[in-house]
Amino acid sequence: MSAAPPPVLSIVVPMFNEESVLPLFVARLRPVADGLGVTYEVVAVDDGSTDGTAIGLQRERRGWEQLRVVRLRANAGHQAAISAGLMRARGDFVVTLDADLQDPPETIAPMLAAAREQGVDVVYGVRSDRSSDSRFKRGTARAFYRTMGRLAGTSAQADAGDFRLMSRATVEAVNALPEYGRVLRFVVPALGFPSETVEYRRAERAAGTSKYPFTKMLRLSVDSLTAFSLAPLRFATLLGLLGGLAAVALLVYALVAKATGQVVAGWTSTVVIVAGMGAVQLLALGILGEYVGRLYAASQARPSYYVAYDSAATGSTVEAGADPESASRSGES
Ligand code: UDP
Ligand code: MG
Repeated sequence: MSAAPPPVLSIVVPMFNEESVLPLFVARLRPVADGLGVTYEVVAVDDGSTDGTAIGLQRERRGWEQLRVVRLRANAGHQAAISAGLMRARGDFVVTLDADLQDPPETIAPMLAAAREQGVDVVYGVRSDRSSDSRFKRGTARAFYRTMGRLAGTSAQADAGDFRLMSRATVEAVNALPEYGRVLRFVVPALGFPSETVEYRRAERAAGTSKYPFTKMLRLSVDSLTAFSLAPLRFATLLGLLGGLAAVALLVYALVAKATGQVVAGWTSTVVIVAGMGAVQLLALGILGEYVGRLYAASQARPSYYVAYDSAATGSTVEAGADPESASRSGES
């Protein structure tokens, strides 16, 4: 790869259709990065954008040599895009943040200081104030972290997103994980590296609209839960058990009714029982399906993203064929 010595800091930024926010982002990040007093690279991961993000990045790159562009061939999702950036980042420290300026770049300085002065491997950005997020988002987020904490016993910082700084050792550990559909905000704490937190105020998205529709949020939640917990499977077993008990009670009732000569009209109860049992069975099957799906995806061992281009590796031409690095499985679908 590149012969230049690795920078002290890599700033990994996933971007999906962020053309409207890109100029604002660059204007804000650049003075901050230049003022850190360390060598750095900005790894902008273009997650298969279909708007002017790719062109915008090339334009910005002309005047900013530390800006490196990694383009994925297709939209691979937020987590996979970060994974691609982690795989390619070369810095001793790697910070990941969103492109929409909800994670203030100014917080990078205290994160780096905390890592260096206190010798910790991970510095989590913790949102001190989420009032800029919608009530729906805050409500679902709270329910999500609480459920994860209960069912999976994960030690994820409540309200920690994907704004964090990691040491080289941590990044190597993450990169070495073969897990498919991993959710970094739970994977990183589970690695157990010494950590610290830095509070920041979550801002409004600077421009454009959220790239996280409800379906993607749901996917992230299911991936998180099935990656860290068998509780849903046990829940299915429990449902089966309760259903079995109910069936025994019903049998007793039916026998007693028959013995005492009462005729059961029974249409309503039959319909309710059939529908209820059907629903429970489908739920249990669905839960099983999520885990089988994860097994299936893992056994296929397909990369969760394909790198089309890396400005640091190629200069300007587009690589053909799958990237050898991305052949190691990582990220989400
Ligand atoms: N993003 C991405 N791929 C996707 C969706 C989102 O790389 O498929 C990026 C997006 O460009 C942004 C970050 O992930 O930099 C967070 O997305 P967004 O701000 O839309 O999510 P929200 O803040 O609304 O949860
Ligand atoms: Mg955002």
